[in-house]
Amino acid sequence: MAIVGAGILGLAHAYAAASRGLEVVVFERSPRASGASVRNFGMIWPIGQPHGRMLQLALRSRARWVEVLEQAKLPYWPEGSLHVVYRDDEAAVAHEFAELAPGFGYQCEWLSRDRVLARSGAVKAEGLIGGLWSNTELTVDPRVTLAALPEFLHERFGVELKFGCAVRAVDLPTVEAGNERWTVDQVVVCAGDDFETLYPEIFAASGLTRVKLQMLRTVPQPEGWRLGPALAAGLTLRFYPAFGVCTTLAALQERIARETPEYERWGIHGLVSQTAGGELTLGDSHECGPGVDIFNREEVDDLILGYVRGFLNAPVMKIAQRWHGVYAKHPEKPYLVITPAPGVRIVSSPGGAGMTLSFGIAEETIEEMNL
Ligand SMILES: Cc1cc2nc3c(=O)[nH]c(=O)nc-3n(C[C@H](O)[C@H](O)[C@H](O)COP(=O)(O)OP(=O)(O)OC[C@H]3O[C@@H](n4cnc5c(N)ncnc54)[C@H](O)[C@@H]3O)c2cc1C
Repeated sequence: MAIVGAGILGLAHAYAAASRGLEVVVFERSPRASGASVRNFGMIWPIGQPHGRMLQLALRSRARWVEVLEQAKLPYWPEGSLHVVYRDDEAAVAHEFAELAPGFGYQCEWLSRDRVLARSGAVKAEGLIGGLWSNTELTVDPRVTLAALPEFLHERFGVELKFGCAVRAVDLPTVEAGNERWTVDQVVVCAGDDFETLYPEIFAASGLTRVKLQMLRTVPQPEGWRLGPALAAGLTLRFYPAFGVCTTLAALQERIARETPEYERWGIHGLVSQTAGGELTLGDSHECGPGVDIFNREEVDDLILGYVRGFLNAPVMKIAQRWHGVYAKHPEKPYLVITPAPGVRIVSSPGGAGMTLSFGIAEETIEEMNL
């Protein structure tokens, strides 16, 4: 089997196929993965998924993540998540979700102000009302993980990795990659937001678009200081579809749009995770459209930082890095699986949840291909 793309979706498919005994080759155009998968927070975030099939897929994916991280001896932090709230309308949504959620299969609960502060030393106490605590989220370091997984797949399962090798055409049993021709039985295309190289007509008709996110990273925090649970806050409650079950959400959305239209305009909310090296990853914003502005907006970084400073109590806030990432997204579907030809699957656009869902999606693809 050939996999196109060594982002997390491609590597998860390589794992799902190779761990079932298939012979796998992965083609990656760049010398190393440099797409959305190395630009994100590294959050495996079931709590963001709507209940039902997507939550179950995220939990299945999380279980596989842990299995892989353990086998590969890679660092990860299964420390859950905290959505911290400072306004009454945010508290109403967090409360309501905490009441409804266990019935839908989420493992979360409302924490009072004191219990939030007991669980996290990284939350600002001033004005804090409480928070939504969930123990299913885990954090990986995306740059460390995406660099190490190919080697693990090679050593453990004999997966062949061809970096710096773009796939130019697929016409089974032939795959043209770089200046080589390979003969394979099946292909899975996980090309991220590249809609132009392979099957451009299918991508053009798919309804997919691109989303650009601005991100920042601090210098390392002092030795020994850890973030604990990954942090989110009130703006995130209006962002993830999971919270759509709350009747109190409309009032929160209305207030945010009225008071802070700039957050709406740039799709801003505040998330914080920590890397293996101790830096804090901060974000993000969302600008949708097929063309991506290659330049970042300082105004957007300022808004993200201003918002995050409102709830994050970190020893050092000096910014060391700024970048943006781009992911593919479908306006309605959580991700796409398309069969452009027998034996070929395009698996694309898990949107802002590709780290969370990748291993679950990959298992489904490989099972569905009867492999
Ligand atoms: C800033 C940011 C923050 C995010 N935070 C999170 C998070 O915390 N949690 C979460 O669950 N999700 C998050 N996401 C979403 C997640 O990162 C993506 O959904 C996921 O990384 C997509 O993985 P992918 O493998 O499909 O794409 P990519 O990582 O973009 O990989 C695609 C790869 O395919 C290669 N490729 C393309 N065409 C070819 C070809 N013809 N031949 C060879 N190689 C090719 C590209 O070079 C690329 O390396 C975030 C996304 C961004 C941008």
